[in-house]
This record gives sequence, structure tokens and C-alpha cells, in this order.
Amino acid sequence: KWRSAAELREMFLSFFEEKGCVRYPSASLIPDDPTLLFTIAGMVPFKPYFLGLKLPSHTRVTTAQKCIRTNDIDNVGRTARHHTFFEMLGNFSFGDYFKAEIIPWAWEFLTQRVGMEPDRMYVTIYRDDDEAESIWMNSVGIPKDRIIRMGEEDNFWAAGPVGPCGPCSEIIYDQGPEFSCGKPTCGVGCDCDRYLEVWNLVFMQYNRDEAGNLTPLPKKNIDTGMGLERLASVVQRVKTDFETDLFRPLIDKACSLGGVSYGASPKADLAVRVISDHVRAAAFLVADGVLPSNEGAGYVLRRLIRRAIRFGRLIGIDGPFIKEILPVVEQLMGDPYTELLEHRATIYQVLDLEEGRFLRTLEQGSALLEEELSRLKAGGETVFPGQTAFELYDTYGFPFELTAEICAEHGMKVDSTAFEEAMERQREMARSGSKHSSAVLKRTVYSDVLAHGKTVFVGYETEEAESSVV
Ligand code: ATP
Ligand code: MG
Ligand code: MG
Ligand code: MG
Repeated sequence: KWRSAAELREMFLSFFEEKGCVRYPSASLIPDDPTLLFTIAGMVPFKPYFLGLKLPSHTRVTTAQKCIRTNDIDNVGRTARHHTFFEMLGNFSFGDYFKAEIIPWAWEFLTQRVGMEPDRMYVTIYRDDDEAESIWMNSVGIPKDRIIRMGEEDNFWAAGPVGPCGPCSEIIYDQGPEFSCGKPTCGVGCDCDRYLEVWNLVFMQYNRDEAGNLTPLPKKNIDTGMGLERLASVVQRVKTDFETDLFRPLIDKACSLGGVSYGASPKADLAVRVISDHVRAAAFLVADGVLPSNEGAGYVLRRLIRRAIRFGRLIGIDGPFIKEILPVVEQLMGDPYTELLEHRATIYQVLDLEEGRFLRTLEQGSALLEEELSRLKAGGETVFPGQTAFELYDTYGFPFELTAEICAEHGMKVDSTAFEEAMERQREMARSGSKHSSAVLKRTVYSDVLAHGKTVFVGYETEEAESSVV
């Protein structure tokens, strides 16, 4: 049965309410945790409870948590299932229910409530977790040959080298052979989209000490996470998350802005997926108080905006367009995420301003690049110097990929090794001078936007460095 993502989100939360969990609202994308740049999973806001630093008010909790994962940025649009911003449906037990409860519940939710076909499902367990295997086999009735044992890297979770940790068990949905990468080794655990990891159940049952010894925790915890976008793609029987009702209107908007049609060319499809993902993520970051900058979360925001623009250019969108997409983000996500509506003015202003800055950068950089190219070509050169590519990047914020692309159009290759060397030299310098640069970055053009609220910002005097990030 087709169900909207909104319906699935609500079904999940109310299912776990039936199981005694208390529904909490999503926490901010910016965690109250100096070790993390972003909330990368549903458990992040609850870390103090898992670590035993604080006592929870409830021992059973459920959330739909806003997450950002930058490690997946290059996967976005290339796999069916990775986003920078996504929603993680989760449920948590702080020393309350454990494996014997959560495993059958997860199965009940997916097969009975949502209607996923049991004969398409597999589960993974940690290599020596016989307890989980026996629950999957005896309480749920999964045949042994559908339970796959995996190693530490995939199926053992730890918050750090010491502290609470434990095995996990992932629920996999076989999308069918047409999704396979075709490699002879393709099977459960393959990186391709055939065996889609839908839900990860973490059984936090040990404490690891400095020597690496595991001792059972007196109070065992549960932490689970399921991507709403992936769940929706399975339930809605579409090929990728981008064709679910959570994304399709964004994709259609990006397509109409670029005058392309979805499904007609892989290159354009990638571009509209990246644009949809990144503009959505950028809007949520600004709603949670992040402003573009050259470090930390602000740097990631800047990178998302610039990548969206760069992919826009690949489908022929040369002027500003982010403002056109924001109403679609609001319409799709404003319920339940009212912060998008509350901070609408700031979101529009900040993204529009950053977009304008980058478009001017691109203009200046392109002119210089074209000049340099004709000079080199006149001299019979076929390699574009890495140092020049670096200067374009460093001085004008001109992304390396774009330099490489434009050079390729002129039949030239960029010396990427020399570019990397120049980058490394600059990183060295930044490290030694880092105290200075963070002080300089305190006041930026964006703090003015916030200070002025709805009034229009004029002028660009800023001491902010323009080094770039795409
Ligand atoms: P994958 O192997 O597909 O990259 P993961 O093992 O890194 O996923 P977990 O850390 O186990 O993911 O997170 C729990 C769940 O969150 C996953 O099972 C998946 O449903 C979802 N998820 C993880 N990363 C992303 C992402 N980048 N975009 C959307 N959903 C995600
Ligand atoms: Mg991953
Ligand atoms: Mg995985
Ligand atoms: Mg996982």
C-alpha cells in the first residue's frame, strides 16, 4: 500500500508510543556536544544518558531526528539512498527493554504495519551475537540462511575507544537484481543499492575499558535508527529516495529551472538530485542558526550552497535560483519542521546573499580562467598548471572541479598533483595561524544579516577571507 512519508513518520512514532516510548521532538542539527559538528544520528541528543552522565526522565523514547552527514556528501545523487540532510526514525531504551523486545517490534513494524515482504528481507548480526540470532530465528521466524554474520566494522557500535558499546543488527531489503552492481561478489553488505540497509538496531550491552576488555553493562541500552527517506522509497516502490514524495517536487522544480526532464540523462539526474538535497540541507542549517563561514558548520553550509550552484550550472542554470527552490522545501517540510517557517526571512536572505557572492566569484574566476587558457593554448600547452588552479581557488574561491571541467572543454588537463601540493602548503600555514583566522572570522557579513533582521543588507565590506570550499 502506498503511504506518504509524513504518514510513515507518524506511524513509526505512534507505533513506539504503543510500546511505551515517549515521543520527543527532534533536537537541533547542531548538537550540544563539542566532539561533533552535527547531529549525525538519532542517539546524539541522548549520549549523556547512554554514557551514564545524566539520568533520563523517561527510559523509553522515540524520535524523528534531523541529521546531517558530511561523510556522505559525494554519495549524494550517485547512490539511491544517501543524503546530507535526512531524518532518522529512532527509538531508545535507557536500561529498559532490550534485544528480546526490539527485534520482534522492528519486524512487526516493517512487515505488519508497513507491509514489507518478509521474503525480500535479510538481517545482519555481529559475528558472535548468538543471542540476536536466536531471537531472529525463534521469536521472529527468520530462516538461518537469511541471517548474515558480519565483522566489527559493519556490526559493532562504539561511541569511542572506551565506554559503552555493543553489537548491532541491520535489517536489509532486497530491491531485486535490477538494482545490483553486477559484481560477482554482490550480496548482503555490498555498497550498491540492491541490498538496501533500512534499519540499524544497536544493542549497547558492554563497557570497554582502556585495555580493551569488554564487561557487560549493568543496564543495557537500545539505540535504533532508520532513514525515513529509505523507508519511503521501499514503501512507495520507487528506484531511489529522490523519487519519493519527500523529494519529487524538489526534483521537478530543479528540472524545470534547468529545462531538463528527469530520467533523460544521468548527468542531469545527478545534478537535480544534488541540488534538491543540498538546498534542503542548507535551509535546515540556517533554520538552526548556522551561517556561512570558512570553518566548522558554516563551512559545510557554504560548501552545500556552492555545490548546489555548481551542479545548477551543469544543467544550464546560470543565474540565482535557490530562492525558487526554498518554497518547495517549506511546503514539503514546514510540517512538522516549523523552524523553516519561523526563520523564513533569515533563510532566504542568507542563502540569497551567499549565492550572489559565489556567482560573482564564478564570473570573475571564469574570465581569468578563459584568459589563461587562451594564453596556454597559443603556446601549445596541454597541461594547465596546478599552481594557477590553486590561485584561482585561493583568491577567487573558484572550485577545482570547475577549473578541471572548463579545462577539459578546451582539451586540457589540470595538474592535480601540483594543485594538491599547493593546497597542503596552505593547510600547513592555516594550522600554524589558526588562532588568528578564527578571531578575524568572528564578525562576518552574515552576523549583520542577523543583526538587521528583516532589513535589507547593503554592501559587502567584510574582513572575511574568500578562500573557497566546493
Ligand atoms: P549505509 O551503510 O547505507 O551508508 P550506515 O550503516 O552508514 O548506512 P547507520 O549509521 O547505521 O547508517 O544509520 C542508521 C540508518 O540511517 C541507516 O540504516 C539508514 O537507514 C539511515 N542513513 C544512514 N546514512 C544515511 C544517509 N546519508 N542518508 C539517508 N539515510 C541514511
Ligand atoms: Mg554510511
Ligand atoms: Mg551500513
Ligand atoms: Mg548501519
